[in-house]
Amino acid sequence: MPDIRPTAGSGALVLNATYEPLCVVSVRRAAILVLSAKAVCVADGEGILHSARNALPVPSVVRLTRYVRVPYRTHVGLSRRAIFARDGWRCAYCRGPAETIDHVFPRSRGGRHAWENVVAACARCNHTKGDKTPAELGWRLHHLPAAPKGNAWRVLGHRAPDPRWADWLDLREPEVEAA
Ligand SMILES: [Zn+2]
Repeated sequence: MPDIRPTAGSGALVLNATYEPLCVVSVRRAAILVLSAKAVCVADGEGILHSARNALPVPSVVRLTRYVRVPYRTHVGLSRRAIFARDGWRCAYCRGPAETIDHVFPRSRGGRHAWENVVAACARCNHTKGDKTPAELGWRLHHLPAAPKGNAWRVLGHRAPDPRWADWLDLREPEVEAA
């Protein structure tokens, strides 16, 4: 077993043999995949890992040598953390730091708890908005809320992406602007 002590919280992106992103694993797990020839390193991170017999650069992205078939979860669960992550921890109304969840069409008036009706909001906007709709206040949403899409979500969950993974993940900002 390699003696690997990477920086805490670091991870490595695992690609399928087809370069399709699969998941994020610990750097230690990625190194074991490389050392056991189950994967090859395609992008190095920072530093060198040492084992009894080997030294290898910290893997940042590895690619499996054999294709694995993976059933994908297509639905992203609606959680507080997931909403903050989707909205970049910014208030949907004023773009300030968000600390609350707002139902765009208020729950008290039948608004649904669904990706299309929830946004991250700062406490001030949320309090001011109360049980009104943005239209009633003359407010505009920065983005139309929608369920997250794309491989980055499937692979990363709520984890912040390493910039070195950008070539393999679709990390663009959402392009839908509110009308
Ligand atoms: Zn706000």
